[in-house]
Amino acid sequence: ARKFFVGGNWKCNGTTGEVKKIVTTLNEAEVPSEDVVGSLILFFWVAEVVVSPPFVFLPLVKSLLRSDFHVAAQNCWVRKGGAFTGEISAEMLVNLGIPWVILGHSERRAILNESNDFVGDKVAYALSLGLKVIACIGETLEQRESGSTMAVVAAQTKAIADKVSNWDNVVFAYEPVWAIGTGKVATPAQAQEVHCELRKWLKENVGAEIAASTRIIYGGSVNGANCKELAAQRDVDGFLVGGASLKPEFIDIIKSAT
Ligand code: 13P
Repeated sequence: ARKFFVGGNWKCNGTTGEVKKIVTTLNEAEVPSEDVVGSLILFFWVAEVVVSPPFVFLPLVKSLLRSDFHVAAQNCWVRKGGAFTGEISAEMLVNLGIPWVILGHSERRAILNESNDFVGDKVAYALSLGLKVIACIGETLEQRESGSTMAVVAAQTKAIADKVSNWDNVVFAYEPVWAIGTGKVATPAQAQEVHCELRKWLKENVGAEIAASTRIIYGGSVNGANCKELAAQRDVDGFLVGGASLKPEFIDIIKSAT
C-alpha cells in the first residue's frame, strides 16, 4: 500500500511570528498519526505529513513541530557544496537533520531556468546523501493545449529516472503549471489520467514493483473543498499544497487521506 502523503510548500512566505502560528495550529490539530493511533489497521490510512518552510525557518520549525510531522527544504544545491554563493547544500540539510527536500518545482524550472537534466542531477545527489525527495513535474497550459502533456511529463521523469537506482525515497509531485496558484484545480479525472499514465511510464521504463510502490501526489490549487474528490482517485497518493498550506484548512486536506 502506498501511504498517503500530504506536503505543505510554504514557498517564499512568512515571518518568524507567522511561522510559529502555523506550527501551533498544526501541533494542536487532532489528526490521526502513527504515534497517537498506534494501531496496525489505522496505520494504513493515516497520512505522512511534511511541511516545507523557507530555509531560514527550517531549524525553528523542526524544533517546534510535533514529532509525527516532518520538514522539507524547498531546494538544495546540485552537487557537493563549496564556492556557490547563495546556495544551500544537500550536506547542510543532512547536517541539520532535515529529512526531505522538494526538487524541480515548476517555479524554479520556469523562473530560475532549471533544466530537466539539472533537476535529475539534483535528485540523484540528494538521494545519494540519504535525503528523501519530492520531485516535481508538470506541464504548462500551452503544452497541455498542444497535446504534449504526457511527452513533457515523461521527459521530466526520464531525466530523473536515468540517474536514480533506489526509488525508496522518491515521491513524485505532479503539478500542472496552469493549476498552481491560479485557483484552477485540475479536475479529479485530469489528475487521475496523468497519474495513471505516469505510473504506466514507470512500469514500462523502471519496473512494475517501483511503479506500484512509488507515490504520485497532486499539486495545484488544492484546498479544503476540492481535496476529498481528488484524494479518492486511484492513482492520487496525496498532495503538495501551496497557498492552503499556510492556512488552517491544511488540516482538512491532511484529513482527506484515503
Ligand atoms: P498552490 O496550492 O498555491 O496552487 O501551489 C501548489 C504548489 O506549487 C505546491 O508546490
